[in-house]
Amino acid sequence: MYGHLLRSVRLVGGLVAGRVLGRPMVLSHLVTARCPCRCETCLWRGLSGEEEELTVAEIARVYRDAARCGLRVNSIWGGEPLIRRDLPAILQASRDAGLWNVLIASGYRFHERFEEVVPQLDVAIFSLDHLGERHDAMRGQPGLFDAVCTAIRRMRSEVPEKRVFINTVVSRLNVDIVPRLARLARELGTPIYFNPMETGMLGGPESATAKEDLALDDAGLSELARRLIVLKGRGYPVANSYTLLRGFLGGKQPYRCHARKVFLELRPNGDLMDCLDRFRPVANVRETPLAEVLCRREIRRLRLKDVGCHFCNNANVIETSNVWALRPESVCALIRRSIAG
Ligand code: SF4
Ligand code: SF4
Repeated sequence: MYGHLLRSVRLVGGLVAGRVLGRPMVLSHLVTARCPCRCETCLWRGLSGEEEELTVAEIARVYRDAARCGLRVNSIWGGEPLIRRDLPAILQASRDAGLWNVLIASGYRFHERFEEVVPQLDVAIFSLDHLGERHDAMRGQPGLFDAVCTAIRRMRSEVPEKRVFINTVVSRLNVDIVPRLARLARELGTPIYFNPMETGMLGGPESATAKEDLALDDAGLSELARRLIVLKGRGYPVANSYTLLRGFLGGKQPYRCHARKVFLELRPNGDLMDCLDRFRPVANVRETPLAEVLCRREIRRLRLKDVGCHFCNNANVIETSNVWALRPESVCALIRRSIAG
């Protein structure tokens, strides 16, 4: 409990320091773009190949630089991070640098790699889009639904001090079963985060921009928010804050995005990206050390500039912006998420 309290104090402290000093707090590291799944809503698979991926030695240097520059959290995802054989070494490098490790995974190979991966984790987030074989079909990977449930149960029983979450990307393909997913989360004893499908954040060659018809429209978003507010009020472990959900009532409301100030996106090949131009990296950490990039005045200006953009409907982006703006319920929700499992 004290460990979690300390962590939430460090998180809020990091946020305040980030606001004052104008530096990011979360490294969002896509360690690979390879993935055995075939999600229809995918934005990321196929961004780059294995041969382009940063090595563990290169990654360790980036993580040391990141920690030195004040970043606190390392969000490791992909692609499917567990497809990398050297993932334990990557997690260890992050831990050694003093970063807080968050792994976002599909459950693929998690059970067989449990002992080598879990000790290095602080938080595990598992993607769940549907129930049973429908989930497997949506992901194009047989057995994945059972793998996620097994992984969550095992984490809850063997390492209860570690945080586990479910993340559900909500689209027209699964919006009808949101209450059943909330019930499953309650049975598994883990919070669930609902994220409306993103369409605008252009990814790789298999980007979902061609599948915009799968995304919820304003009426769908509003109805989703209304349902989640009711479920949350009834005690289901919906992790989205009320502030976020109310912002979706009547369709997505404009918000002031601060996500660029908090997150630093690192691609598998070392490209550092700016969300406003997803095709042109601002730098590559193979060519320029991260610490040097972050010191550049024009990069700081670019990151901190208020561009009036509220393009994304990604719940993490909006929630993070609300926390940055110190909206009380959002800050409390962040603290609750880091303390309670
Ligand atoms: S959404 Fe994630 S799990 Fe699904 S195909 Fe894309 S990278 Fe893989
Ligand atoms: S809403 Fe925020 S995160 Fe999304 S593209 Fe605009 S500035 Fe970037």
